[in-house]
Amino acid sequence: MDAVSTGTASASVADTSATATDAMPLAQRAAQLDRANPLAHTRDRFLIPEGTVYLDGNSLGALPAAVPRALDDAVRRQWGTNLISSWFGEGGWWEAPLRIGDRIGALLGAAPGQVVAGDSTSVQLFNTVMAAARLRPGRRVLLTDPGHFPTDAYLTDSAAGLLGLDVRKVPAPQAPAALAEYGDQVGVVSYPIVDYRTGELWDLPGLTRAAHAAGAVTLWDLCHGAGAMPIGLDASEVDFAVGCTYKYLSGGPGSPAYTYVAARHHGAVRHPMTGWHGHADPFAMQDSYTPAEGIARARIGCPPVLSLLALEAALTAFDGVGLADLRAASLSLTGFFIECCDALLAGHGFEVDTPREPARRGSQVAVHHPEAPALTARLAERAVVCDKREPDILRFGFNALYNTHADALAAARTLRDLVAG
Ligand SMILES: *Cc1c(COP(=O)(O)O)cnc(C)c1O
Repeated sequence: MDAVSTGTASASVADTSATATDAMPLAQRAAQLDRANPLAHTRDRFLIPEGTVYLDGNSLGALPAAVPRALDDAVRRQWGTNLISSWFGEGGWWEAPLRIGDRIGALLGAAPGQVVAGDSTSVQLFNTVMAAARLRPGRRVLLTDPGHFPTDAYLTDSAAGLLGLDVRKVPAPQAPAALAEYGDQVGVVSYPIVDYRTGELWDLPGLTRAAHAAGAVTLWDLCHGAGAMPIGLDASEVDFAVGCTYKYLSGGPGSPAYTYVAARHHGAVRHPMTGWHGHADPFAMQDSYTPAEGIARARIGCPPVLSLLALEAALTAFDGVGLADLRAASLSLTGFFIECCDALLAGHGFEVDTPREPARRGSQVAVHHPEAPALTARLAERAVVCDKREPDILRFGFNALYNTHADALAAARTLRDLVAG
């Protein structure tokens, strides 16, 4: 049985019946779609090796062209020449977590003053899930995703252990029903916006509403959504969110994560990590902790300044980019890639795991095949970079700022050549 034969476009049928010229219509379509792409100009904002088809931006975004010179300035001038004076005044290192937090916030649909950058996603997850649970004392259940990313699962279990909470793992589509049933016991509802394996987009507004109807607060992990689509944190009245910046935001390896706390919680929220940068008067060097006003209380300690400044430069790749255009371009890329898979890979043991319905898709396409790990390695030898999730998933991440429909077609054709050759 052809696992990917559910495509219905008649062009797909014609493509599979031809041989040498089978990809011609797709090649023409790719060129046409790339010409019509309103974001075609942003590819020049990245330094991508010539000839490489880079479809792993959902793990490590490509290098934005603005980063090397910004890092050089940060190291040689700000650090080398201006030394410690860069913390304040023109250097602005002290304010960087808040300033960059606001820039990230704009991409998340968050008004200024609700996002702070710094530390790792894992640290932010722990600090945030604890803070969220403490806002609902007396509610003993923490509702989360059985398929959540491992670090989220481990840290949630750890926080629940410390607080004596009961973790219940319910898939996102069933979570509203669980909330309707025993929501009065649920304090925190913690989910990823996109499933990291299949690329399925969960219903953030709907699940947030269901959580609020039950009296719970929400914590969303945005790692696989931020920088790929509008998220509308404020519009959906999300309570807390965290995410990394090295995937679709292209901040670089180990770039700082961020945390969002809705302004309405700023007065009451108490994070467990009471580091001195979150103190109301950090330079008074007081004996005990008083949280700062606003989102600054979510700061912890000294941020990784060089990484923050690299991230700030990386985010200029989004300058002037409308999130609706970004989402449309992303869906066009993933939709076209699925079409290429249908046309070129049918009969070779592949199955597309990502929903075909655009509204249920993030910005990656997961394809499963029993030999996924070996195929990922062989694709890399041919300069098509994707990644695998054991045991049998190939993940193709599309960043609409730099990927093209030609990339999508090249990846599917290379894969076809490997299995058919
Ligand atoms: C990438 C990712 C992380 C990464 O956490 P780190 O602390 O940056 O290693 C966490 N959660 C999800 C859902 C992710 O996709």
